[in-house]
Amino acid sequence: MAMDAKALWTMSYGMYLVTARAGGRANGQIANAVFQVTAEPPRMAVAINKDNFTHDLIRDGGWFAFSVLAETVPMEFIGLFGFKSGRDVDKLAQATVREGLHVPLVVEHAIAVTEARLLQAADAGTHTVFIGEAAGAEVLSAGAPLTYAGYHARKGKAPKNAPTYRGEAELQVQPPTPAAASPWTCAACGYTYDPEFGDPANGIAPGTRFEDIPDDWVCPVCGAPKDAFLRG
Ligand code: FE
Repeated sequence: MAMDAKALWTMSYGMYLVTARAGGRANGQIANAVFQVTAEPPRMAVAINKDNFTHDLIRDGGWFAFSVLAETVPMEFIGLFGFKSGRDVDKLAQATVREGLHVPLVVEHAIAVTEARLLQAADAGTHTVFIGEAAGAEVLSAGAPLTYAGYHARKGKAPKNAPTYRGEAELQVQPPTPAAASPWTCAACGYTYDPEFGDPANGIAPGTRFEDIPDDWVCPVCGAPKDAFLRG
């Protein structure tokens, strides 16, 4: 049988915010490969890139938690936890966090949270699959969960350390258009600046052409500089 990667792209995932703590440091990151392995007892698996700070915190701390992100989560929130490293930024200081049994739980933009004690870590190459037993779980709101496909539809691209990351070729860059008010796309994270909507949260009024945005403006999702944007 041939190897058609598109067959793998048909698989379904959710969008989760995985948290951990070790040695007095805590962090959280976006992950899509989170799933329940067994019901009785409830055991959960999360796949985390070995390069990520959260990876080491799970390994060293022996506990992890994950928040099920709401369908309504702002892209900027995913950007904070998906495109920035906890080695550089205290991400949890910028979110509403509650203390769990052993690790912090992100309750903002989450519809449920589960905390698990680490049982086993399986080497999967670029990632480690951590298997844990749920020690606590709580529904936070009645909203619908964000799916990986739903996230994809809104953003066009996964954080580069996601197991399913498909590389830059996946970016759907439109052919250049001569129109004055064309959208521009962040080459780092795939966020699209639409002049019609602007970026009001960062002082850019709706209707502002990309060319007219101040040079010190940065991507609201990943923090990349303005010159990292490509027309289209
Ligand atoms: Fe970006």
